[in-house]
Amino acid sequence: MLFTSIIYGPIHSRRLGVSLGVNLMPTDKKLCTFNCVYCECGWNTQALYPLLPSRRAVYEEMEAKLIAMEAEGVRPDVITFSGNGEPTLHPDFLGIIQDTCALRDRYCPAAKVSVLSNSTQLGRKEIREALMRCDNRILKLDSAIDETMRLIDQPLNPQLTVRQIKEWLRLFDGDFTLQTCFLRGEHNGRRIDNTTPAELEAWYQAVEELHPRQVMIYVIDRATPEQQLEKISRDEMERIAAPLLEKGYPISISA
Ligand code: SF4
Repeated sequence: MLFTSIIYGPIHSRRLGVSLGVNLMPTDKKLCTFNCVYCECGWNTQALYPLLPSRRAVYEEMEAKLIAMEAEGVRPDVITFSGNGEPTLHPDFLGIIQDTCALRDRYCPAAKVSVLSNSTQLGRKEIREALMRCDNRILKLDSAIDETMRLIDQPLNPQLTVRQIKEWLRLFDGDFTLQTCFLRGEHNGRRIDNTTPAELEAWYQAVEELHPRQVMIYVIDRATPEQQLEKISRDEMERIAAPLLEKGYPISISA
């Protein structure tokens, strides 16, 4: 499923409430530094010259949509950057976030600005600055074990390590939401399972190290590019969340 416009929705998001979506990536293909087996946008395609929306186009479309929503008496709970890939890859990401906060202040001051990110660009100072201007930074860590992270997320940089991702996440000093998709299945004949005791032990330890202000765990919900994936049950997700809840972490489960 691809988003065919810059601004989409508002939609009711399982995780975020009434959400006005922003897609900074191409409208005809996915562009991402990961190629997750569960990605709702499908597999990556060759995108040698991807057409990204200009900062001005994002501003104008967002303002027009907020004015239209205001006329209908609807206000978003959240303006969410997600879309067809990794939003922080946009070269004007910082400026777009500044514009979005200004538009939010003018048209819907109660709305939060949220970014769903795969964490791969957190080593860049301007990306961290942009994310810190938002209300919610929802940052991905699908496994705390290299082999599993690479199997699930299929990073374009095959050298990417969990250790590196954690070092970048540490730069936020806990001021972020950690998001993890739990799943089981198979990909290219290899077993995928980030719910084993060893996986969970490493993941709990990562959560304790990073101490995020919130933890968001979820399951696959729509069609996935890899067909052989299994949805984790609500009961099992609650069991996964339980040790962190006992320790007082705010944790949301979408299952
Ligand atoms: S990080 Fe998000 S957009 Fe990128 S491949 Fe994974 S699920 Fe898809």
